[in-house]
Amino acid sequence: MEKVRVRFAPSPTGYLHVGNARTALFNWLFARQKGGRFVLRVEDTDVERSGEEYEKKLKSSLKWLGLEWDEGPEIGGKKGPYRQSQRLPHYKSHTQKLLEEGKAYYCFCSPQKLEEERKKALAQGKMPLYSGRCRSIPLEEARKRLEVGEKAGVRLRTSDRGNVSFQDIIRGSLDFDLRYIGDPILVRSNGLPAYNYAVVIDDGLMEISHVIRGEDHISNTARQILVYKALSWVPPRFAHLSMVMGKDNTRLSKRHGATSVEQFQKKGILSSSLFNYLALLGWAPPEGKEVLNKEGLIKLFNLERVSRSAAIFDYDKLYWINREHMKKLSSSEKAQKAYAYLKETGYFPSPMSEAHWSWLERAVETQLEGVNSFSELPPQFSIFFDFDPSRMSPEAREIVHSESARKVIRSFWEKISQSSTFDYQSFVGMTQEIKKETGCKGKHLYHPLRVALTSRASGLELDQFIPLVEEASRMNFKKPVKSCYQRVAEMLQHLESLSSQND
Ligand code: GLU
Repeated sequence: MEKVRVRFAPSPTGYLHVGNARTALFNWLFARQKGGRFVLRVEDTDVERSGEEYEKKLKSSLKWLGLEWDEGPEIGGKKGPYRQSQRLPHYKSHTQKLLEEGKAYYCFCSPQKLEEERKKALAQGKMPLYSGRCRSIPLEEARKRLEVGEKAGVRLRTSDRGNVSFQDIIRGSLDFDLRYIGDPILVRSNGLPAYNYAVVIDDGLMEISHVIRGEDHISNTARQILVYKALSWVPPRFAHLSMVMGKDNTRLSKRHGATSVEQFQKKGILSSSLFNYLALLGWAPPEGKEVLNKEGLIKLFNLERVSRSAAIFDYDKLYWINREHMKKLSSSEKAQKAYAYLKETGYFPSPMSEAHWSWLERAVETQLEGVNSFSELPPQFSIFFDFDPSRMSPEAREIVHSESARKVIRSFWEKISQSSTFDYQSFVGMTQEIKKETGCKGKHLYHPLRVALTSRASGLELDQFIPLVEEASRMNFKKPVKSCYQRVAEMLQHLESLSSQND
């Protein structure tokens, strides 16, 4: 069986964009499925734009997503080094070989000259191709010019006739007319390799079997195949993934919302959810079951079934997948993840006791329905910790405004203040008595009771809320939780002070 070796080759010039993360993920899935190797290669020859900081961030995002690599910078491997800036001798030796064989030539045209020619061609409505002016300079003569200090790049000698074609795993046969390709630059006059050259030397020497990357590289692939031919190397197989777009069909960018893996991580999206969602960008599992873990995805993924059409990044679908993945966690995992965001609220003690964790586990379960990610939990928790009748929403105020609502709450207070214990059971009993006493029923009874206990018009069901609040009020939280009795008393006091102001 063919040995599968794939690579992800980011340029460390920014954060890991979800489009690139999806490329990395498809490579990773393919490698894991085929028992192959996943190589990380850092393409840092663009010295001005590359940064160590970015490389670090890229790696930490890949790790967070669970895309561990088998070979790469730091961990090494048999085909290293894995950073292009450390591979210059490889590029150099192959350049010399191509020059000696006449397959490449030195080009002395200055960047200004080339730019002039490019502009002229464009103005005439022609393709801006290199004129071939330096093609016929003999190697000996070129070397002499270099010795006396002239600067030159190196170009691949191509033919003006014929075509170059390849079989793309996703797109089928692709064919390019050589008339539109020109002589690609291999090495720039500053001695650094151009992308289309370095990538071939690296993919070739690293024995990459499949190149899976974005379709923005399709025309580069044609040029790269010419380099493989010149080196008499067999090219790898290619698969070009469609672009990741926003809903408006333009390339996914900041305008659409979060675009980097790090941003989603900060938003509290689980790595398993982003992993799952990215796998669905351009690929669909055969039986339509979309919520999958890593193992399931490795099993089902099929590179040949990846779609050619643009993949639309749907934030709502990602949130749906995240909610599904959140549900699958154990209660203690949920509490741990929630705590990572809740600890900023100042509600919880540090360290948390076992009782606090146990309370949090149950409280988190009641709040998950209403959120897309754990990071959205802190405001939800204010229902337990921030009872304040003087800061009610207009909706809640409206509910308790009437005389009948005040009657309900007063009656509730009388019952709760006379009872030595209070739980949901006793609450149900009390509501029956309040109903009899005040003649209020339905929403005229239940809405004021809810506001009296929560200072809100909506939220958690009271059968979940009451036991959690009663328990919490007896515990030692950093911000004390008011008991139901305290809440009703404060609410009544607030309403009575309002009505005395109005008198
Ligand atoms: N460094 C290139 C990029 O980030 C790699 C493209 C490739 O996979 O060949 O676009």
